[in-house]
Amino acid sequence: MTYSIDLRGVSRAGRRPQPPAREAPAAPVGLAAVRVRPDVIDPPRPAPAAPAPAPVAAAGAVRAARPLPAWRRPAGVAPGATRVMAGMALIAAYVAFCLAPLAIVSIDSHTPHRPFLVELSVALGYVGLAMMVLQFTLVSRIKWLAAPFGIDILQRFHRQVSFVALAFVLAHPALLLAQSLPTYLPLFDLRTAPWRARFAVSSVVALLLVVFVSIWRRKLRLPYEVWKVTHGVLSVSVLFLALAHMVGVNRFTSSPGGRAVVALVAAVVVGVLVWSRLIAPRRHGFRPWRVVDVIPERGRAVTLVVEPDRHPGWSFLPGQFAWVTVGGSPYRVDHHPFSLSSPADADTRGRVAMTIKQAGDWTKTVGSIDPGTRVHLDGPHGSFSMDLHQAPGYVFVAGGVGITPIYSMIATMFIREDIRPVTVFYTNPDWESVTFREQLDELSGYMPNLRVVHVLKQPPPGWRGPSGRLDADVLARYLPRQYQTFEYFICASPAMMDAVEESLLELGVSDYRIHSERFGMV
Ligand SMILES: Cc1cc2nc3c(=O)[nH]c(=O)nc-3n(C[C@H](O)[C@H](O)[C@H](O)COP(=O)(O)OP(=O)(O)OC[C@H]3O[C@@H](n4cnc5c(N)ncnc54)[C@H](O)[C@@H]3O)c2cc1C
Repeated sequence: MTYSIDLRGVSRAGRRPQPPAREAPAAPVGLAAVRVRPDVIDPPRPAPAAPAPAPVAAAGAVRAARPLPAWRRPAGVAPGATRVMAGMALIAAYVAFCLAPLAIVSIDSHTPHRPFLVELSVALGYVGLAMMVLQFTLVSRIKWLAAPFGIDILQRFHRQVSFVALAFVLAHPALLLAQSLPTYLPLFDLRTAPWRARFAVSSVVALLLVVFVSIWRRKLRLPYEVWKVTHGVLSVSVLFLALAHMVGVNRFTSSPGGRAVVALVAAVVVGVLVWSRLIAPRRHGFRPWRVVDVIPERGRAVTLVVEPDRHPGWSFLPGQFAWVTVGGSPYRVDHHPFSLSSPADADTRGRVAMTIKQAGDWTKTVGSIDPGTRVHLDGPHGSFSMDLHQAPGYVFVAGGVGITPIYSMIATMFIREDIRPVTVFYTNPDWESVTFREQLDELSGYMPNLRVVHVLKQPPPGWRGPSGRLDADVLARYLPRQYQTFEYFICASPAMMDAVEESLLELGVSDYRIHSERFGMV
């Protein structure tokens, strides 16, 4: 039988084994033990809100997803055990790199010893500096570094660990002042201080600026692109001023080993910058993509369908994202991250789709992009994927445009004929603005294991589904019986994500089963 389903422009028609029709319990082989659900929530055919229906599939009917063949495995995420081992090795390397300066300093027996507080302050300064160096690698988008964790996790770590690095760096002058105020306070007077102290003070001021501007970017109304350039320039200044300070003090660098370490650190930073700002964009420039369709969606969204331009494209895991640059040069600073909303594993000649809410300065222009426009994709990235967390079933929670990675996962399950039960909680302001409303309804027809629970803030008259906030009561009412063994994927506004995470924990879901994608990465 031929099916025709809109998987966002990338797979509108195809030939598949006979899918079970809605209301038709005669299921094909492989879907046999699954009851067809008549109760997908949908106003034209509203479902009874309570009591909670029986679980979709009996345990015996649950079939594991087909593993991806090795050749289809996307770059950017390593498979299971390799991923864990590589992750542990990288964490060990991170800790070793941060502590290495301490070891080098402590085995340096040539220099006379200083008071304990001074030695401690220098040691903590070195650790802070080492962490600052690694901050560059965390956001460098180097695939083998990001593979075990996912680049989104690394970006989050980059943001959080920056406060720890700042604390180490600030401990350096603080402990010096604690040791002897009259000796060290004059070094803060930039008019009279020696150059080595001026470098140090400038480095710390630049670091404070980096943190201040990052925390207050929105309050300062700084455009993202301006912030990004400022952040980069200031961060590089912090490092090179700190290295100049070290060379000026000439204690650590008086030995050949010390000089080699400083040279190595500088080389790592320059290498990472050259890779991420010059070589990687150049490589993307050699592999451009072309817009083939621009499809308006409900909820002020637009789906951009792109296809590889004279290269095979790449495969990805459902739920991953890519950075998109529209226009000629891959070096532009205005590249934006978007989840891939099309299914993975679909035979689409490399086409992928991104669904973009037209809400900001740049996204408002997406609807006017012409088919044929050249774009550059840096991806696939991210670890927000059901493929990385196998489970007997899934619960997806989406708010508004947060449906995009989740839609990709559901559509991929459809393509793979994955019959594990999946419940989707999808909140929107009103029924008209439900992005992918028709597509989800259609998928529900083909997927008896899929249950979509729409939660509307302003429901239309006659609405019998849940309305208002998605709270623990609504979750409890619609979660399947075996929900504590399922994996949870949440993508919504920060406030909703926090509330849902809290509700799930209240309901006894283990926190390691809850995965979230925050669109406001910075
Ligand atoms: C992993 C990930 C996946 C995403 N997937 C989607 C998706 O599928 N659909 C969708 O509509 N949105 C998605 N977003 C959000 C999207 O990237 C931003 O909304 C968009 O870049 C905002 O651009 P703007 O200039 O129009 O908005 P503005 O109004 O200028 O900015 C709004 C906010 O968006 C963020 N932002 C702006 N520019 C960038 C940028 N270049 N890179 C990163 N963040 C930026 C900033 O926090 C900014 O404060 C995703 C974000 C992330 C991190």
